[in-house]
Amino acid sequence: MENCLFCKIIAGEIPSTKVYEDEYVYAFRDINPQAPVHVLIVPKIHISCADDINETNSAVIAHIFEVVPKIAAAEGLTNGYRIVNCCGEDGGQTVYHLHFHLLGGKKLGENF
Ligand code: AMP
Ligand code: ZN
Repeated sequence: MENCLFCKIIAGEIPSTKVYEDEYVYAFRDINPQAPVHVLIVPKIHISCADDINETNSAVIAHIFEVVPKIAAAEGLTNGYRIVNCCGEDGGQTVYHLHFHLLGGKKLGENF
């Protein structure tokens, strides 16, 4: 997808700090971390937002949630963590390539 920041990160055209990668998924550190561990987990295929998940692309979402415990363990999140997805304007989404925030490393407050 042209002009998509996260597609460019996945392609290596924009630098990122990778924490995990496989055939379907890329994960990297958020540039503006909101917790000691703040990783963004994204599908390699471009899906704009949660609203665009459907029967043709949902397998990659299941795969992301298989990968979450592996990343959490590698990041030392033994006491729990939070997964956040922002969808659309009211959801506070700023980058329109579907991504899940993995946050942890401290006791998180009520706010993101
Ligand atoms: P959202 O507001 O849910 O769309 O999340 C977008 C996230 O992308 C924010 O937490 C940003 O800090 C993060 N972000 C934006 N640009 C970059 C970048 N170049 N590398 C890593 N994270 C980024
Ligand atoms: Zn994209």
